[in-house]
Amino acid sequence: MPIPHRLLLAAGLAAALSASAPCAAADAKRAPLTPDAERALAERPLVAERVRYPEYFARAYARYPDLPRGVLEALAYSETGWRNVEPAAADGGHGRHMPAAYGVMGLYHGEGFADQVTEGAKLLGLSPTLVMRDPETNILAAAALLDRASKANKARGEPYARSEDPSTMGAVLARYAGYGDGIGEIRTYARQSFAYAVLSTLDRGVDANGVKVPKRAVGMERAFTPTQLAKLRAPLLNVDAVRDEVRIPGATLAGDFGEALWVPAYSGNYSTAANAMTAVIMHTMEGSYAGSIAWFQNPNAVVSAHYLIRKSDGQITQMVREYHTAYHAKYHNNYTIGIEHDGYASDPSNWSAAMVNASARLTTSICARRGVNCASAWQGPGYDTWHVVPDSVRVKGHGMLTQNSNRYDPGKYFPWASYYSLINGGTNPNPNPGTKYWVDTFANATGYKWPSTLTPVGTLYQGTNYVYCKAWGERVGNATSYNHYWLKTDLDVGPAGSWVSAYYLSRWGNDEARDNNGTVIPNC
Ligand SMILES: [Zn+2]
Repeated sequence: MPIPHRLLLAAGLAAALSASAPCAAADAKRAPLTPDAERALAERPLVAERVRYPEYFARAYARYPDLPRGVLEALAYSETGWRNVEPAAADGGHGRHMPAAYGVMGLYHGEGFADQVTEGAKLLGLSPTLVMRDPETNILAAAALLDRASKANKARGEPYARSEDPSTMGAVLARYAGYGDGIGEIRTYARQSFAYAVLSTLDRGVDANGVKVPKRAVGMERAFTPTQLAKLRAPLLNVDAVRDEVRIPGATLAGDFGEALWVPAYSGNYSTAANAMTAVIMHTMEGSYAGSIAWFQNPNAVVSAHYLIRKSDGQITQMVREYHTAYHAKYHNNYTIGIEHDGYASDPSNWSAAMVNASARLTTSICARRGVNCASAWQGPGYDTWHVVPDSVRVKGHGMLTQNSNRYDPGKYFPWASYYSLINGGTNPNPNPGTKYWVDTFANATGYKWPSTLTPVGTLYQGTNYVYCKAWGERVGNATSYNHYWLKTDLDVGPAGSWVSAYYLSRWGNDEARDNNGTVIPNC
């Protein structure tokens, strides 16, 4: 933006020539990619990998001909999104939320759940390592375990696999689920939920990014009882707008958020100690929705979260009351509400609109009911490393908390910017858009197109300048003097509506963004 003052301009040019001027570009480490472009790039090797899978599935059906065609593909999509999950590599040594799942079929290897890897290896006469590492063997092992579950059902007079009728797989998948030996009420919902996820995927079909699940009418009313189905399909039922409730016959509603089903966690996996409820923490399960529900009901877990959200349709299950303390964020448990999202932080395709919208409805409700400041929510980039943000940000990721250095969920693909917009009414939280806030800058500032991508586009000269609003983004500065905020402004050289780091403000502290009168510059 032009400063009509020759002295200021001269000072700016002098600063430009001096080596003492700080240089934001030196802090630029990220590739200049939009989040969408980054996601597309990350999908490429996955698409290449998926080309081989249809042949592996075909061989598994040839060996286990009773399994209905498409069930294995649907299971793989539901559990891992057709990704060869290698827990040690995928989380880079970071901690997990539940027992690890291996390979394209997401087989469990003990840790509190069944040891599907070892059992599958035994059925095939091959090594557990091969089942974990080799996609074709992993798929074969899952097929062998499904076949075994089917035979066990047949011996008990329960539905067993018949290739012409996928609805027979409801009971077979529930037995296969891998959530440990607990049979009966406590694990029933999780097992049914797993079977539903697989069969509803088959019923819809998938054809995207190299994933091919054939669309096949399942007959869900034969696979599940009417009461089970009503609960499993909950988000599709009527919403009572007047009472702000979803009514589900045969299901228990949670007390805190009308849309959520209530399935309590095992009593030892949370504390009835009071929760201050002043912040909301986003997680990814690093596993599946049904698996997480089973895990939070498992006495071995000693972990929990308040809410879990399903990727396929945004169904929400509450497992701990908001005013109780869930075990999800170490030293931050006593003031935070935890939301677990289906799937993996490393999966570029994880963030379905259904799940993001459901999560935003939930967080909006928490902010309104508990007084959490949704306007302070993180709106910068996502990260695939631990990255602490200020305490003043009250809606943020697990990997943005102190003392949680082994976490980075919900990961770099979580859509923070659109999430911010959703939980703030989808509108510009700046009450006076277009208002100019006058600030002094102590050196020439490099202008960027966005606060998150650091693509240089010009210069804002040192002196008195105006800015419109602020946003959180990449840190700029040195060891003692720094700022994460970015200011929207019109550059002296370069386009209007660009961004400069608030590091260049001459009179305020670290991570502060105020104008010359001390007024906090509003969020964009
Ligand atoms: Zn987490």
